[in-house]
Amino acid sequence: MGNLNVLRLSSKMIEKLHMAQLDSLEDLLRHYPSRYETIEDLPFDQWKKGERISIEGQIIYPVRTNRIKGKLSVSRFMFQSRNGLFNVTIFNRPWISNMKGIITIFGRYDGEHSITALQYKGQPLSTLIGIHPVYRITRDLTQLDLQKVIDKALPLRDLAFIEEFPIDLKTKYKLLSIKQALKWIHQPSGFEELKQAVRTLKYEEFLRFQTKLQFDRHENSEVQAGKMKLFDRRTIEHWMPHLPFTLTDAQSKVLNEILNDLQSTKRMYRLLQGDVGSGKTVIAALAIYATHLAHFQSAVLVPTEILAKQHYVTLKTYLPESIRIELLTASMPAKIKKDILEKLAHHEIDVLVGTHALISEDVKFANCGLVVADEQHRFGVNQRRLLSSKGEKVDFLLMSATPIPRTMANVLFGDLEISTIDQYHQSRQKIHTQLINDLDLKGLIPQLKSFLQKDQQIYVVCPAIDSDNELELNDVNSVYKTLRKLLSPEIVIDTLHGKLSTEAKETVLKRFTSGQTQVLVTTTVIEVGVNVLKANVMVIYDADRFGLSQLHQLRGRVGRGKDEGYCFLLTESEEETALARMQVLLETTDGFIIAEKDLELRGPGEIFGLKQSGIPSFLIANVVLDQNILLTALGDAKMMIAHQADSLYKAWIEDCLLEHSTQLLD
Ligand code: ADP
Ligand code: MG
Repeated sequence: MGNLNVLRLSSKMIEKLHMAQLDSLEDLLRHYPSRYETIEDLPFDQWKKGERISIEGQIIYPVRTNRIKGKLSVSRFMFQSRNGLFNVTIFNRPWISNMKGIITIFGRYDGEHSITALQYKGQPLSTLIGIHPVYRITRDLTQLDLQKVIDKALPLRDLAFIEEFPIDLKTKYKLLSIKQALKWIHQPSGFEELKQAVRTLKYEEFLRFQTKLQFDRHENSEVQAGKMKLFDRRTIEHWMPHLPFTLTDAQSKVLNEILNDLQSTKRMYRLLQGDVGSGKTVIAALAIYATHLAHFQSAVLVPTEILAKQHYVTLKTYLPESIRIELLTASMPAKIKKDILEKLAHHEIDVLVGTHALISEDVKFANCGLVVADEQHRFGVNQRRLLSSKGEKVDFLLMSATPIPRTMANVLFGDLEISTIDQYHQSRQKIHTQLINDLDLKGLIPQLKSFLQKDQQIYVVCPAIDSDNELELNDVNSVYKTLRKLLSPEIVIDTLHGKLSTEAKETVLKRFTSGQTQVLVTTTVIEVGVNVLKANVMVIYDADRFGLSQLHQLRGRVGRGKDEGYCFLLTESEEETALARMQVLLETTDGFIIAEKDLELRGPGEIFGLKQSGIPSFLIANVVLDQNILLTALGDAKMMIAHQADSLYKAWIEDCLLEHSTQLLD
């Protein structure tokens, strides 16, 4: 990984890097630019009105600055360059008047020797020409900081932590060495170099991912003689009438597939996918029941504590009382935890539901036979491997509400078998979705009020918690204040977000579930699992900021009871692509179509929605646009794993199995 100390940075800088989750040399070098700016010296006779230009010269004083309001100001001055005199206007940079000597101005040419400057640098243009990286930054860490630190790291001789490609692959595809590619991705001296660097690093990323995946797959097939579960299917049949509903045909079909897997000698590795609300939980419950009948324990792994508690409660209603279910979360008192662990080790617990706390080493099952992971995309390959170490040859059931297109699933998850619940049970209600091209709630208020009068509850989802977010997104606190003003005082409004303690979150949710609260202003923490039957209205702020599948997931919170659901997508965006994306949600409620579209439309630099998409996220490679590279890497990884003892591949494979900053997916 490489310790940052070799860079001899100030402790303040180390702290800043740490805040941005850049903790090692590798983290730094893998912090690829999100885009590049090119600076060129375009001859004046080729300048066109409205286009970007750069020009060097000297300010002719005085600079006239007018304050507009607060920090807003506009400065104007004449600028002497070799192409004559220019009128320059620049906003919010009053201190430009301190610049002496030759400077370079970047901006837009407005015609007639006028320029609107966007930026300036105190250096001659000739020293600035080239391709410049632009990094994703955080509030404290600036572009300049990052450039300085990365510039320091790149020339280090000892970047031994970087494992180079097996030589035959490097030659075959004429790749750069990884070190060279890292250098050029940060400091390209031309487009050709940049292209080669990008190509090399994309391949590297996919190859690492596939190597790990194919390794796991190979391991799994080695121990393929999984434990066969002996149980009588009739017992399960007889239990069916005790469920609160009859299974749909689609549910029965997937249940059958799973029970077949459990009874076979082959180890199960199956993805159960079905849209939000399609009824996956009951299938998991019945698989757990079957496992129990065969005298094995089950583990249920979920991404959040809220979800863990809900599953715990739901499973109890789906399973016979004789099955002992317990909950384990990180925030539990140590004493209770200890008690649970003891019981677990003595098989006095049959089912343990929990968050990632389940993965920790001191959690030992007496005889675990099945691991169910809900919303599986949030668990990476590493966690899955760890969990499988909980029991020899355990069967895996991974559940996801975000459908993964089948072709993609094969490439990204290897050997996974897929079961799909492709039919809704009757109790799902229609959801009306409406796009509102305005972020002002006022227009919606009469409608919201009438919903409230009909005893409906409302979710209002915001992309940020408080107002000091970089992108000036709408936040929970401000929206709460606005609503407080617009709605009558007897309406109870609560807020919910990830920064609240687990207890506070629970209290808020409890109040909402019980109907004490009418409006819940929240972040996406409610995305999965929250089930409030009388909350049938959802307003989503800055909807264009979310991934499509995520919006669909959010929208799935409403229409769960006897009433139809309403979802209002608010956006200020006028970008065609953003509006086209939103349009998909208006046109269909089919999660598969939405997922496909999401994939198609997603750009690599998307800010939100990567983690939620169900598709592992990559730093530089794009699973849609770079499919050829992905398939090539898949073939190469298979080949290497087939020859894993070969000294050519050994080091590479071992390196891929380590934790790396290249592995966003974990
Ligand atoms: P998800 O697939 O999103 O996890 P759940 O398992 O939470 O969906 O089920 C959503 C809702 O649908 C629950 O309230 C559940 O009781 C109900 N449900 C599931 N299956 C059926 C069915 N066959 N008939 C009627 N209601 C069902
Ligand atoms: Mg679910």
